[in-house]
Parts: sequence; C-alpha cells; structure tokens
Amino acid sequence: MKTYQVNPDGYYGEFGGAYIPEILHQCVENLRNAYLEVLDSPDFREEFARLLRDYVGRPSPLYPARRLSAKYGCKIYLKREDLNHTGAHKINNAIGQVLLARHMGKTRIIAETGAGQHGVATATVCALMNMECVVYMGKTDVERQRVNVEKMKMLGATVRPVTSGNMTLKDATNEAIRDWCCHPEDTYYVIGSTVGPHPYPDMVARLQSVISEEIRKQLLEHEGRDYPDYLMACVGGGSNAAGTIYHYIDDERVKIVLAEAGGKGVETGQTAATIQAGRLGIIHGSKTLVMQDADGQIIEPYSISAGLDYPGIGPMHANLSRQRRATVLAINDDEAIRAAYELTLLEGIIPALESAHALGALAKLHFRPEDIVVLTVSGRGDKDMETYLANQPHPHRP
Ligand SMILES: *Cc1c(COP(=O)(O)O)cnc(C)c1O
Repeated sequence: MKTYQVNPDGYYGEFGGAYIPEILHQCVENLRNAYLEVLDSPDFREEFARLLRDYVGRPSPLYPARRLSAKYGCKIYLKREDLNHTGAHKINNAIGQVLLARHMGKTRIIAETGAGQHGVATATVCALMNMECVVYMGKTDVERQRVNVEKMKMLGATVRPVTSGNMTLKDATNEAIRDWCCHPEDTYYVIGSTVGPHPYPDMVARLQSVISEEIRKQLLEHEGRDYPDYLMACVGGGSNAAGTIYHYIDDERVKIVLAEAGGKGVETGQTAATIQAGRLGIIHGSKTLVMQDADGQIIEPYSISAGLDYPGIGPMHANLSRQRRATVLAINDDEAIRAAYELTLLEGIIPALESAHALGALAKLHFRPEDIVVLTVSGRGDKDMETYLANQPHPHRP
C-alpha cells in the first residue's frame, strides 16, 4: 500500500534521511535502534499516558465552534492544544523524549530553542523528572524573549546564549549539535519539532500523534463517524500538524490543509513560507526544502509569529506537499492577525499567533454545509498580546 509515513531508511519520498557529522553517527544510530522499541514498550506507554492525563491535562477538548462554523458555512471543531499545561502542544513531545532519554540511561538533556516555547517545555519536563537541562538560544532571541528565558531559569535550566551567525535558531541548533558531539555518552538532544535527522521527524510525529488519536474518538462521539472532511493546522517545523494528521495521513477521504507563515508576502522575500519559497537542501541533518540564496546560504526567515520562522520544514510535510496529499497555503501577517481577532470575538478564545495562521486559511477555502473541519489551536494568545495590540485591525465586529 502507498503510504505517506516514513520508510525504513528514514525518508518521506525524496525528503528526510540523516545528514550528520561522523562523530554523531553512533548517537543517532543508537537512537534509531532504540526509539521504536521503547515507544512501543508497555512501561513507556503507561507512564507517557499517565503523565499526559495527570500532568498535561489530556485529552484536550474537541470544541464545536458554533459561531465560527456559521461564519464559514461548515461544521468547525477546534482541537484545543492551547489548554495543555504550559499552553501548547510542545509539552507532549518534551515529555515523550525525556522519558525516552531516561529509558536509554541518559542523565543530561540539551535542547535548542528559537522563540523559547520548546525550551520552556523541555525545562518544565526536566524539572519534573529531575534531569540536568541546558538550552541553547541565539543571543538575539534571548533579548527578544526575556520572559521565556526567565521561565527556563526559574525551572532550573541553564540558558546558553549563542553569539555565532545571526544569533538565532539556526545558530542555537548548531551549538546544540556541537554539545552533543562532545558528550555523546550521557547526553540526550531533545528536538522540538518534526525536523532534524531521522529518526527525529518520525519520533516527534509519533509522540504528537496523541492529538489525532483523540480526534478519532472525540469525532466518533460528536458525529458518529471517526474522520473529518478537513484537517487544518499551522506549520513551523510541522509537529502540531503532524500530530493532527498522523492517523489520517493515508486516509484520502480526509483533506489536509497546512498554513505556513507568508510574513509580508511570499513575493516580498520577507517570509517564512518554506514550501513556497524554499529549494531542496540540507538543514539540521535533514534533506528538505530550505530557504536559501543562490549559494546555498540559509536565508533568515521572517514572520510576525516567532514560532513559525524556521527556514526549513519537516520532511514529512515537504513530501505531503510535493505529492499533493496536502494543500499548503501561505497566510500573511495581516491575515493571521485578522483571523485571531475574529476567533476572539466569535468564540472568546484568543489564539496564539501561530494558530492564527491556520484560522486565516479558513477564508481561502470553499466548504459545503455538511463538511466537518477539525482545526488545531496549538497555543494561547497570552504570549502574543503585545503583537496583537500593536497590530490591531480596523475595529468592527465580524
Ligand atoms: C512551536 C509552535 C508552533 C510551530 O511548531 P510546529 O512544530 O510546526 O508545531 C506552532 N504553534 C505553537 C503554539 C507553537 O508553540
């Protein structure tokens, strides 16, 4: 059967693989040999499920958004990942990987972070599990994201500001990889999205797949059928989208719509829309679409949303787009802002700017009244209030 899941060599079509320095070969090989066995073991599954329930607060609700549905002429459900502990989906992955690290006998956790959300999730789980935690973060991001830096420190993590390159996510990633090379024995590297060398994209997708597992059960209760007509999510690296679609990826009855950050418009170059603006290249150990100049130098992406400005894209998503299994829309800053204000006024939910991009895609689709749409709201708007206030659309009630 044709599948859009990873193949045994770690590829999704032509994308993926593990392009890593020789010194990390053994580390990645060990992870590759361990992850499926651990993730499928009764011990791991029991503890992961227990923490997702008691600590994260799962299952997250599948909320029928009646006023939003009326506006778009279909039946929209919001998968409320914003209601998780720490306010987003990233905690699902952080718990899973730190548990895996413990099963592998590792005692030290490292991570990279851009906007700080993944760093906070990882530091949170390390506090919970009493693990040493070092987070690499570009110095520019350290200055832009003070609150998240203070949260990580309060949680007991060490934040290492990175001063190479543009001092942003790509540079933090390079430093984390360098650290891993120096401490391969005791250190586990927690990657925050469906990116990086195989097996990370598949592992992160599996850990986030609790989202689509819950959607199946919850839709069956609400609708008497366990699949929607549309699944929608925003894409930075791709983890909340991968979790949303995981159990439906080979079910062609379900249309998949992904929203990437258009920034000021793909044609302006001020964008993070990697699927539209990127070319085949290698980033973070993975062959995928990359925003790069003619010489192959990575172009710094731009989006009003700090969580979406990654210059690559998960290999799973690059392949879904290449094979036309998913429709990928670039949603610009102003469209996302408008959608965030709309959801807030219609449903009393202030979404994260990242998720506002998925909401912004609703206006670009044509639904039938009977269509069932599940859209993942992956985070809270609390962290984005300054941006919302500085960019208010013209006042009107939708
Ligand atoms: C990190 C983040 C994203 C983007 O990451 P993905 O791996 O693409 O999901 C989206 N939404 C929120 C709220 C985030 O914190």
